[in-house]
Amino acid sequence: MNLTHPFRDADGDKLREECGVFGVIGAQEAANITAAGLHSLQHRGQEAVGITSYSGSEFHSHRGLGHVAQVFNPRTLETLPGTMASGHVRYSTTGGSGLRNVQPLFADLAAGGFSIAHNGNISNAMTLKRELVSKGSIFQSTSDTEVIIHLVATSRYPTLLDKFIDALRMVEGGYALICSTPEGMMACRDPLGIRPLVMGRIGDAIVFASETVAFDVIGAEFIRAVEPGELVQVDFKGTVSSHRPFGTTNARPCIFEHVYFSRPDSVMDGRSVYGVRKQIGMELAKESPADADIVIPVPDSGVPAAIGYAQESGLPFELGIIRSHYVGRTFIQPGDAARHADVKRKHNANRAIVEGKKIILIDDSIVRGTTSLKIVEMMRDAGAAEVHMRIASPPTEYSCFYGVDTPERSKLLAANMDIQAMADFIKADSLAFVSIDGLYRAVGEADRNNGCPQFCDACFTGDYPTRLTDFETRKPGKLTIA
Ligand code: AMP
Repeated sequence: MNLTHPFRDADGDKLREECGVFGVIGAQEAANITAAGLHSLQHRGQEAVGITSYSGSEFHSHRGLGHVAQVFNPRTLETLPGTMASGHVRYSTTGGSGLRNVQPLFADLAAGGFSIAHNGNISNAMTLKRELVSKGSIFQSTSDTEVIIHLVATSRYPTLLDKFIDALRMVEGGYALICSTPEGMMACRDPLGIRPLVMGRIGDAIVFASETVAFDVIGAEFIRAVEPGELVQVDFKGTVSSHRPFGTTNARPCIFEHVYFSRPDSVMDGRSVYGVRKQIGMELAKESPADADIVIPVPDSGVPAAIGYAQESGLPFELGIIRSHYVGRTFIQPGDAARHADVKRKHNANRAIVEGKKIILIDDSIVRGTTSLKIVEMMRDAGAAEVHMRIASPPTEYSCFYGVDTPERSKLLAANMDIQAMADFIKADSLAFVSIDGLYRAVGEADRNNGCPQFCDACFTGDYPTRLTDFETRKPGKLTIA
């Protein structure tokens, strides 16, 4: 994450990132395994990638801008010897992308080398940084992750583990962290478990990753999730110990991982992501049917929900939009003009399917409305008789402060318009979103269970489960986000 947020960049958006993390200890060619794991987490971050390894006496690091396959090859991987390695893929909307911010970050502390890879966002990082700088800390990057390094460096506790725990007690927000030290690896999750982290085994080695798909790809066996608020420590003898620095709290994992962010072939919070997405489509079909001929997904993110919608409604599922796989995610383009052009390059109407039909279009979410506006227009240009848009999440009304990229609130379509106005804006004949209870039913809960929800759903409800200190201190007495 970039420390300049919540201030705005030139495009008016917050600078924020989503990321994927991976770590392995106790394996020959740990860096190669890490590269393969990161490759399967590429959807979590496409802007930059880095790997740090430890060869028993020394840390080695290679970081670069671009995809895993561009930055890592047999030659670069040879420079990363050792049986412990950790890595990071990073995704940011705009700016703040200099090499100095690419993770894992590394520092030589009095207690030994310390490398850290972080998925998430620390919501009091600005406040902590100000305090640290006033006491003499000199920051090398604009990443909020570096705050943790400085907190570890200045902690008065004797051991690295205690220093790390001391640091974590001062940070708030959502995080999954993988740290390497000369004593071994430490992996931990924020007290509410907002960001995901799972643990597995490959041979005698222990692996950690943001998603289970990384274990499938490297041939590792899934052991369990790192629990919310848990810190797992693994030493070079393979001894695994679990610490609970925060006591126990009610977990609130991110529900948007199920809606959009994770790969559908991952298992998250014990649930198949694909299965949940399909179920959301079924709930959507029950809640918001439409008189139509066919169901069409917006590829790829709308596909599982569209399958569910089609099965529940009994309407045929058709590929009415074909996606080019050689264009990146439209969302990450900084300017509106670039975003519009990219939507067109990425998706093309399959006229033979669409012409003359009343269609139901399914996508996972509407953020700014750019994608929906273009896709509805594309369907009409291809001769669709009616276009009914159905969205497999509730309206995204609030920004995320825990590591999922959303623009500032004023740019969220649902924060500015009611559903009819949104339907008019995207020029659809009708528009409907799954209800928040429908979403909870899809993840296997009876409903949102108000007062005690099982997930962080702040992007849909404005119910932020942690303090957001940086925002409170910016406008004393008033939270600008809700
Ligand atoms: P928009 O065009 O701004 O309405 O963005 C909506 C599209 O972006 C949806 O089709 C999603 O698949 C995708 N999307 C939603 N949320 C995110 C996110 N946090 N990061 C990247 N892509 C997203």
